[in-house]
Amino acid sequence: MTEELFREDAALAECGARVVAVDGHGVRLDRTVFYPQGGGQAGDRGELVLADGGTIPVADTRKGEAPGEIVHVLADPADAARLAPGTAVRARIDVARRRAHMRFHTATHLLCALVPHPVDGCSITADYARLDFHMTDPLDKAALEAGLARLVAEAHPVSHRWISDAELDANPGLVRSMSVQPPRGTGRVRLLEIAGVDLQPCGGTHVANTAEIGAVVVRKIEKKSARTRRVVLAFRD
Ligand SMILES: [Zn+2]
Repeated sequence: MTEELFREDAALAECGARVVAVDGHGVRLDRTVFYPQGGGQAGDRGELVLADGGTIPVADTRKGEAPGEIVHVLADPADAARLAPGTAVRARIDVARRRAHMRFHTATHLLCALVPHPVDGCSITADYARLDFHMTDPLDKAALEAGLARLVAEAHPVSHRWISDAELDANPGLVRSMSVQPPRGTGRVRLLEIAGVDLQPCGGTHVANTAEIGAVVVRKIEKKSARTRRVVLAFRD
């Protein structure tokens, strides 16, 4: 199991770590600030900094085969030869890219609060965020943009807490998403709360206050299928 520092503090840009294993697929560390692709959110990029100051670019981060395993995918697989189990590194993410993920990810929670229908698809990248809602009614672009702008301007604090699987089972209404089920098996679930706005299980990275999202526009609304409405968000800047 990799210690997942990003779960407790999404603002961490880097950490010291040791290589646990390295192979053609990538590098496993004992602890990391790199978020592995999941829950619709893209995996982090960045670099591993060696003791001599040399850097090894990380192109992506994925979940490994074993539960709790995080694989840092090297941009150049040949760099694996520069690492060995026990090697000390500094793991440093691409902060600008992650920051975009955090702003978009938090914005998708606001969108969930504005559109009270189940989510059946989600993709969060540095360039856009899209959510697919299981619904048949049309959506109004201007109304959604105004709603997002209001929730950003209201500067709601964003926080997380952990509850047990048993507590979650006792509150099935917490599960808003049809495609992204809360992670099970570790005995606990991470709840993400935007005070007074949204509460749902989520393991992703978010900003600490909705004001940090900034200006968001609805780039498009599509009727993806008879029962799916797709909303694509972008930053105004
Ligand atoms: Zn989230």
